[in-house]
Amino acid sequence: MASVEKFSFHVPSLEELVGVLQNGLKNNFADVQVSVVDCPDLTKEPYAYPVKGICGKPRIAEVGGVPYLIPLINKKKFMPIVQTKSDHKPAVNGSYFAQINPVDGGCLLEKYSKKYDDFGFALLANLFASEGQPGKVIEVKAKGRTGKHNFVTCMRETLKKHYGDKPIGMGGTFVVQKGKIKVHVMPPEFSSCPLTSDEDVNNWLHFFEIEAPLVCQPVFVSQDPGFDLRLEHTHCFSHHGVGGHYHYDTTPDAVEYLGYFLPAEVLYRIDKPKETHTYGRD
Ligand SMILES: [Zn+2]
Repeated sequence: MASVEKFSFHVPSLEELVGVLQNGLKNNFADVQVSVVDCPDLTKEPYAYPVKGICGKPRIAEVGGVPYLIPLINKKKFMPIVQTKSDHKPAVNGSYFAQINPVDGGCLLEKYSKKYDDFGFALLANLFASEGQPGKVIEVKAKGRTGKHNFVTCMRETLKKHYGDKPIGMGGTFVVQKGKIKVHVMPPEFSSCPLTSDEDVNNWLHFFEIEAPLVCQPVFVSQDPGFDLRLEHTHCFSHHGVGGHYHYDTTPDAVEYLGYFLPAEVLYRIDKPKETHTYGRD
């Protein structure tokens, strides 16, 4: 049986977060507008999610972790984690994984290879889940990157700086409307040699530069409250056949982001690795 730990995030009002994010993002982007709006209908293009919004009991679930994947894939973890998923669905509310969650971290690869996806998801996942309802959300528009941080890192660092040791969890969706993004996807085979550094991991992963428009599913936590979390994780897909794990935009002058976010109330930490390390988290 996998462990499940629960943590309550600090949850500021949306109005307060608007002020904090506006101030932080303007240090990293030329043009920033943050406001509280009604969540757009996410069943429409470009999102095409199965649910209308990201509201209603927003929470983050982090399952497993990078240490199950590297230095060497822990194949013993496979079967137990498949069991874990079904055993512990009620703890997180299984329907979020299956249907309601419009913003899970699923790689585009899952559409190409079912087997690969089952394996990948079984080892680690960072999910933002909600009841998928309409409601008030934080809208973030940012154009022209002037700083060194990517869009998600900038928001995370901003929250960390403002809220310090009161951890904030956020998730939602954003669209890269213009520009290009560097992403990675994992190769179809897990490495047979141990990957023991960031450099090893980067040599194993496949990196691509892909074009907007891209729909992204970010999950980020301002500060790890002691659960061996991956502080940010964003996957993206498109309707032109590309997708992957978001690293940063490669066209700072041209890039335009439009996002909708909510602070999560609760973190569920499922199957936290007992033996850990710090690389491969990027
Ligand atoms: Zn990823």
